[in-house]
Amino acid sequence: MSEQPDPELIFGLSPGEAIAALRLTLLAGLAVALPLISLACGSWEAGRARAELIAETRGTLEIFRANLVSEREKHEAVPFLLAQADEIATLLAHPTPGGIDHLNHRLAATAEAVHAAALYVVDAAGTTLAASNWSAGASFVGKNFSYRPYFQATLRGEVGRYFALGSSSHQPGYYIAYPVRPEGRSRGAYPVRPDERSLGAVVIKLGMERVEQSWTADSNRVIVTDADGVIIITNTPGWRYHSLKALEPADLERIAASQKFPEIRIEPLPVNDQPLDPVPAFDAGETIGIGDVENGARGARYVVVSSPVPGTDWSLSLLLDTRAIQSRAMAAAVIGGFGTVILILAGFLLLHRWMRSHERGADQRRARADLERRVAARTADLARANENLRVTQNELVQAAKLAALGQMSASVAHEINQPLAAIRAYADNAMVLLERGRVDTLRDNLAEITGLTRRLAAITQQLKGFARKAAGTLGPVNLAEAVDSALTLLGHRLRGEGVRVRLETPSAADGPPPLVIGEDVRLQQVLVNLFGNAVDAMKGRPERLLSITIAPTPGATLLTVRDTGPGIDAAALPRLFEAFFTTKGLGSGLGLGLSISAGIVHEFGGSLAAANHPEGGALFTLTLQPPTSTGPVEPSR
Ligand code: ADP
Repeated sequence: MSEQPDPELIFGLSPGEAIAALRLTLLAGLAVALPLISLACGSWEAGRARAELIAETRGTLEIFRANLVSEREKHEAVPFLLAQADEIATLLAHPTPGGIDHLNHRLAATAEAVHAAALYVVDAAGTTLAASNWSAGASFVGKNFSYRPYFQATLRGEVGRYFALGSSSHQPGYYIAYPVRPEGRSRGAYPVRPDERSLGAVVIKLGMERVEQSWTADSNRVIVTDADGVIIITNTPGWRYHSLKALEPADLERIAASQKFPEIRIEPLPVNDQPLDPVPAFDAGETIGIGDVENGARGARYVVVSSPVPGTDWSLSLLLDTRAIQSRAMAAAVIGGFGTVILILAGFLLLHRWMRSHERGADQRRARADLERRVAARTADLARANENLRVTQNELVQAAKLAALGQMSASVAHEINQPLAAIRAYADNAMVLLERGRVDTLRDNLAEITGLTRRLAAITQQLKGFARKAAGTLGPVNLAEAVDSALTLLGHRLRGEGVRVRLETPSAADGPPPLVIGEDVRLQQVLVNLFGNAVDAMKGRPERLLSITIAPTPGATLLTVRDTGPGIDAAALPRLFEAFFTTKGLGSGLGLGLSISAGIVHEFGGSLAAANHPEGGALFTLTLQPPTSTGPVEPSR
């Protein structure tokens, strides 16, 4: 046998094994794919969320930065314009109490109008000449600010800009200082030329509260750091005056010396500072830094978006809480995980179903093959049984004949005994007559004897004919003679049962006796059977009349047999011609008579029908073909 791949195998496995392997693969797939896909979905979504967050924040950062810049620029004009005023230069050169008082009022009115924390004029030594807060408890008037870097810048002829806490108020503020030129030289560009020695400076201090207040609503942390990385403006008060990274001792000393943050120790925030990636910002040529910082103490993580503030050495940063990113990443991981599980399960179910159907298909193929084998076996059995049945039937047909013969033998014996007894009587009598010489009477006796022996010969002749097997050829048979012979054979039984026989045959005047196609012995067998059944049916009935009619018609010759028995049961009628159907007790009937008779009549090209006569009793009608008919004449067995 060549190696044929078994169609029932799946990847070389039986369906059952394949399903087990599939389950294992599913589990392994889930174990490996689930965390991987969850992780991938999570980090993909985290990346997206971070990018979106940064994109959104850029706008916010832009607005906040514009706030800062405009706040500064708006106020820049105030000290600039005052520094140009000859009135102030004159007063610095020649201070008078009236002039100072007037200036104090003017500064106070201006500061209030522009929402400045303070507006003041210092002389060349850094001592305040006049101030907007001249009337307040913490008045700047008379205070010396020579140590302030913004003042030192004005000494160099430059514009001073500086963030610091107020030395007495400790209020944070942004200081802008413009140098004041000598009288008549007040107009010109900055820095001031060295020959135009500064008489002093006009300084404006801006409070940061307004800016900070505008940021408090923002959920992100907003910080502005100075050049040292110290947080100076923020919406998170706890973070103010902390540095983003730990400062060097030298830097700390320098900051302390400047009194920028008097009495405040600069501590680093508990965040890890990481270099920010520069990315293109909103304005061409500018970059913002983006990175992650971790608040070690609070475990919070931030994305930092950072931008320099134009006109200052500050940097504005938004720290974005990454919790939103994390929760989106988590959701994506969960969805990815679920998706994976659903996909794998769906795949598993499909494969499982396919394998199951494959398995069922295999089962069905096996069942079909099995069925075919069994059908073949049964067919062979049936063929054998049929053959047995045919043999048995043949034997039974013969047996039925013999049975009929047995039944008839008593009748026949009687039929023969009677003439024999008569012959003996005539013979005895003949001797006497001979002795007495009564020759005439003797002749009559002998003639009687001859007649009787002829009758005996006829009976034995019929018996011989009945007993022998069918001659086999069909031909014209005299129906009336066949009826006579049958009645003769049954004569004893008819008389024994007291059955009257009424025979109606066409008279000689009607033409030649009706001939039918058949075979005499078997025709007699049919008739003996029909008459015998009638006698059986009438047993014990008050009236016992057997009516037989022969009626030739143009197409066929009909023979009817009617009795005065109980008739045929309606239930029995359709089964009458079935082999072995009998209503007679065990041993009385074989149930073969009518079925064999019908078969014989069929071979003659005729038919046999059973019915009940409307006036009671059974009525059998035998239809036979006349010889003129050219119906098929088959040779019998
Ligand atoms: P058997 O005579 O051995 O029973 P038959 O084939 O000759 O077998 O008859 C079958 C059955 O038909 C009988 O058992 C009987 O019930 C019914 N039958 C036949 N002829 C008559 C009849 N003349 N009247 C009533 N029943 C009949």
